[in-house]
Amino acid sequence: MQKKIYSFALVLGMLLGLGVMVTAQNGLQVLEQSIESEFRDHITARLSAEGPDEITQVEFFYRVVSQKATSRNVVDFEPGMTVEAEYIQDQTSTYFPPGTELEYWWKLTDANDDTLKTERQTYLYLDNRYPFKTLSNDRITLYWYKGDDEFGQELFDQANRALDQLEKNVGVALEDSLKIFIYGSHNDLLDAISVGAQEWTGGQAFTDYGVVVMGVSPGNLDWGLKATTHELTHLVIHQATDNPYGDLPRWLDEGLAVYNEDPERLDSQFRHSFEAAVDSGSLMTLQTLSSSFPADSNAANLAYGESGAVVKFIIDTYGTEAMAHLLDIFSEGSLYDDALEEALGVDTRELDNAWRDSLGLPPIADAQVEAAPQPDSGSDGAEAEPDSGATPQSDSSSSEAQEESQSPSLPCLPGLTPIVALGVIAWNRRKGRASFF
Ligand SMILES: [Zn+2]
Repeated sequence: MQKKIYSFALVLGMLLGLGVMVTAQNGLQVLEQSIESEFRDHITARLSAEGPDEITQVEFFYRVVSQKATSRNVVDFEPGMTVEAEYIQDQTSTYFPPGTELEYWWKLTDANDDTLKTERQTYLYLDNRYPFKTLSNDRITLYWYKGDDEFGQELFDQANRALDQLEKNVGVALEDSLKIFIYGSHNDLLDAISVGAQEWTGGQAFTDYGVVVMGVSPGNLDWGLKATTHELTHLVIHQATDNPYGDLPRWLDEGLAVYNEDPERLDSQFRHSFEAAVDSGSLMTLQTLSSSFPADSNAANLAYGESGAVVKFIIDTYGTEAMAHLLDIFSEGSLYDDALEEALGVDTRELDNAWRDSLGLPPIADAQVEAAPQPDSGSDGAEAEPDSGATPQSDSSSSEAQEESQSPSLPCLPGLTPIVALGVIAWNRRKGRASFF
């Protein structure tokens, strides 16, 4: 019984403690606060407050919910016993994707050095230029505005299927819920992602925000289903393996995304160039595919095809558990060969040769072996390869008319343009790198 009373007193004490945080015993008091935004223009937070002494400092704090870094901002205002303050987060020079969740709070300080910190609140930053509809469960929220309910439902169902497949075949489950934004045209997409985004961009995964942004017109659903799976896979794999020390080999990252599009069969977009390279014995080595992918569209198609095929080979040969183990090791920031050795018992070259053998090809000739690339630990992200993950599509047109008849490029992006990258790097300084695709 005594224990119960003690617990009750503790809970009550905590509740009272929270109360002090927001109303302040020292008389400092928030009269009103609000936050509003216009997508790609601004996020503005306002506050009015009063106190028994002159309020001399107002600070606004915020952080992106899925990230660690907190931004502290001393706000310009007219000191007094009653004050009004405004903090504007300029979204013309900084970029947050739609669906960014901000946690924010204010701190007031008066002439007596008394302070008041407001309770933390969250704000969901959305693209309010379009009448988005939503479908949601505890894993995914899908936003779309063009196309009927069936269109949205198909994309939503596919996204859920993609997560189920990934869990079953790769042994990786979603850690934090995701948001998928479907823009109704290629132009709308380009306008929504970032200044200077590549014209051929079909979508973008903002891994550090848990957001995928895609351009899928209702006439292009088949492509949209595949592309959504691809980007979503990148996001889940990123959640599972993100660490400050190193990345996945590129063939593994892209290969998982390609594999998950259809675990049974390589997509026709990549299959032809892959089969032709097997026939002519001109596959690129896994070492070559460990870092950046070729910019040339034919070579890029082959790179994606090989990556998807070798991931399927690993899962079929070594099993789901081995793949899950491999990703688990990479989540600690392992060197490529070390991780492969530990999970599969082979290094990059031995894996390559085992795979080639399964295709009826001879082992890699010594002349093909290059210096093994290593994860770019310590990179500040500014050196992200602009051509890596270049579109495997040969057509780079972005016109609306063509979009209906031709699929936009597969959305494996260099990810963020340099301008955006700098924004992300600023947020990610503690991690020392940005996330690129
Ligand atoms: Zn990709």
